[in-house]
Amino acid sequence: MGFDLKARLDQRRARQRYRRPQMMDAPSGRVTRVDGREVLNFCSNDYLGLANDAEVIAAFRDAALRWGVGSGASHLVCGHQRPHQELEEALAEHTGRQRALLFSNGYMANLGALTALVGPGDAVFQDRLNHASLLDAGQLSGARSRRFAHNDAEALAGQLARSPAPRKLVVTDGVFSMDGDQAPLAGYLAACEAHDAWLMVDDAHGLGVLDGQGRGTLFAQDVNDRVPVYMGTLGKALGTAGAFVAGSEDLIETLIQFARTYVYTTALPAAVAAATLVSLDKARREQWRRDKLATLIDRFRRGAAGLGYELMASDTPIQPIRVGDDGDALALSRALAERGVRVTAIRPPTVPEGQARLRVTLSAAHEEADVDVLLNALEAAKCPS
Ligand SMILES: *Cc1c(COP(=O)(O)O)cnc(C)c1O
Repeated sequence: MGFDLKARLDQRRARQRYRRPQMMDAPSGRVTRVDGREVLNFCSNDYLGLANDAEVIAAFRDAALRWGVGSGASHLVCGHQRPHQELEEALAEHTGRQRALLFSNGYMANLGALTALVGPGDAVFQDRLNHASLLDAGQLSGARSRRFAHNDAEALAGQLARSPAPRKLVVTDGVFSMDGDQAPLAGYLAACEAHDAWLMVDDAHGLGVLDGQGRGTLFAQDVNDRVPVYMGTLGKALGTAGAFVAGSEDLIETLIQFARTYVYTTALPAAVAAATLVSLDKARREQWRRDKLATLIDRFRRGAAGLGYELMASDTPIQPIRVGDDGDALALSRALAERGVRVTAIRPPTVPEGQARLRVTLSAAHEEADVDVLLNALEAAKCPS
């Protein structure tokens, strides 16, 4: 026995599940460069086109000159600098909450929040399609983990009713990362309120994108005041890096005392926080970015459906094309690549068995003509000539 790494890798390769990072030779934007070729990029999470925005870059550069590159320590030692403080205040204000707390990334924010809030004897209820970091966080917390059917408020209510746990935490993605649909939060809140449970929403894909000011899924669904724990990431629509949890004074103080992924890690570079202050302000004010996204989403959906492709119930920039078979999804992704369009195939275990898909994502950095190039490539990929 021992560590037969080769056998395990071979097995993964044989199942069409092997993955490898491809080197991009250009910034994240509408166009990137792979293997010396320019390709139209339809797979980044830079929904608002801010990752490569001139004003955000300038803020990052200026702050690096002023604050240096590394923060030097964790927040509680001496790594909490003025840009971090200002960003936490801006994020609290933006999300309509008393306070917000920065984490190095979304994975760490989720691990920190769940482990600080629940432990052995408690119960965590998760949508079965929740992001891997939430599922891992539930395991790490030691609480009893239950998963309910995707977007099924009735199934959740049933599980809550049967649970004897003293503390019940319901956790869901706001916008599902591989599906693009939104969680039915009002239904969940009714169940939580009836059974004395708390709701936490991971809004990695809603923040910046949904609501007239980009305040995310909770504002779009008009439930912000009823959700005690909000988590957002900075590496997607806001175009930088990092994440935060926002909520009451007591919630944030609890995280500062008990979230080990906050306490035992180096603070983000202050320049990242300074750049995010600018991207947050632009995300809020520049409504044209969301308006343009809506136009592109509509154009893509109408075109792809017209070609006979199966789309999912999504009104967000995440517009997956359902394929099913892993090999077919890879083949379609390769056929698009040959036509200069990059869309990654998403296979299990990232999505359930038999539900491989092409995860098309749109960005305000795209033009309508880019969507047409994608649609033409999809048409050609369908009928090889
Ligand atoms: C991307 C993502 C995360 C992780 O955020 P990072 O900052 O990339 O670590 C967490 N939850 C969801 C739903 C995500 O899509």
